[in-house]
Amino acid sequence: MGKEARKVSRKPRTPNGKPRGEKPYRVGRSHTGLGLFATAPIAKAAFIVAYRGRRVSHAQAERLEARGNRYIFEINARWSLDGSSRRNIARYANHSCRPNAESDVVMGNMILRAIKAIKPGDEITYDYGEEYVALFIAPVGCKCVKCLEKRRKSRRAPRAVRAKG
Ligand SMILES: [Zn+2]
Repeated sequence: MGKEARKVSRKPRTPNGKPRGEKPYRVGRSHTGLGLFATAPIAKAAFIVAYRGRRVSHAQAERLEARGNRYIFEINARWSLDGSSRRNIARYANHSCRPNAESDVVMGNMILRAIKAIKPGDEITYDYGEEYVALFIAPVGCKCVKCLEKRRKSRRAPRAVRAKG
């Protein structure tokens, strides 16, 4: 019986070598603060993580947003999720205009899903959507990789012209 117990307690491993149940991501430092990073390969179209939070009505959601809550996610015509709890690991996924994941609502839950193959070490990002970007990101300037590249290029262009002349 002792032997059997040990056999049962041994953790089965997934093909990528990680114990089953271990998440393929971790919270880490990104250039804008904290972010969500892959710790194992994540296949295109694979489920990554669910956005966890209590359900709130849209009226409650508006009150929370007015108080500065930036983690409200509308899941249908009636309910939103308040994902501001630190236990909600998905809240650490940053916005990007060139994302490698997308958000979706599946049976009343918001999830993140890979839209391309994600390598270990890659930051997991998704597009927060036009409304969020217009309200909270555009006023301070988007700091995603795509927008930083765009800004770097537009700064370099005038100098190149001067160098020729
Ligand atoms: Zn951007």
